[in-house]
Amino acid sequence: MRYIDLNLIVIPDGWLEESDRATKEILQGNAKIDDFCYVWQDLKPALEMIVGKKCWYCEEIQSRSDKEVEHFRPKKGVTGVKPKHSGYTWLAFNYTNYRYSCGYCNKRRKDSGNNNKLGGKGNHFPLIDENRRAYKSGDEAYETPKLLDPCVEADVKLLDFNEDGTPCPVPLANDIDKDRVNVSIDLYHLKHSEIVEQRKALARYLEDLICDADYFFDRVAQGDNTAITKFQEKINTLKTAINIISRFSLFSERYIIGKRHLIWIEFVFK
Ligand SMILES: [Zn+2]
Repeated sequence: MRYIDLNLIVIPDGWLEESDRATKEILQGNAKIDDFCYVWQDLKPALEMIVGKKCWYCEEIQSRSDKEVEHFRPKKGVTGVKPKHSGYTWLAFNYTNYRYSCGYCNKRRKDSGNNNKLGGKGNHFPLIDENRRAYKSGDEAYETPKLLDPCVEADVKLLDFNEDGTPCPVPLANDIDKDRVNVSIDLYHLKHSEIVEQRKALARYLEDLICDADYFFDRVAQGDNTAITKFQEKINTLKTAINIISRFSLFSERYIIGKRHLIWIEFVFK
């Protein structure tokens, strides 16, 4: 998960007018939300302009599943909420509620590689204080979501990873934030066995790069100037791995930061 600045979305001409029209039709009871599903689908290319076709929750780019425009606050009902909640209908066509997501993160699925453990967001949207649950437009401003939001910079900073590819809270997180991270790991399926295996493979790739860079750095230190270019190539490849548009870039960043005992590692972040 990386911070996604929603101000970077370039809204297509006419889209806001159409979203306003859809919202009015829904709130007046003249239509169903799905009658206007093209509204959020039309914004998908604009969302893809920010960090490419990468899931904003798990940072997967490859074809685990098609990417979709996900509603952060569920549009058609909220699971496990009393009194019954029919969804944040007033935000169904509000682009600030959209998150670009893969089906593993936004749909409930069993993980066959992990005892069929159920994960994925579905219509879940837990709050820290359920008494503040919004049932009408505007009240969502008083909610404190449990789920980490890729569009909130402070939230993204709470997520860390172990070297074995499993996600976890950052060590300094307080108990509330640790709970938020753990709930998010479950509801975004960030510990799905396939994605953990892919992070493990990425860790091996990064480790090889780091070993090579360390070797060339030593040679340069011993006066071998021919190793400078090779050292710089390895640094550049590590820089690419932590670029926000790269797959699993936060995992790569955390992994490389874990090697900070190497005196050259700071070059990767310059
Ligand atoms: Zn995902």
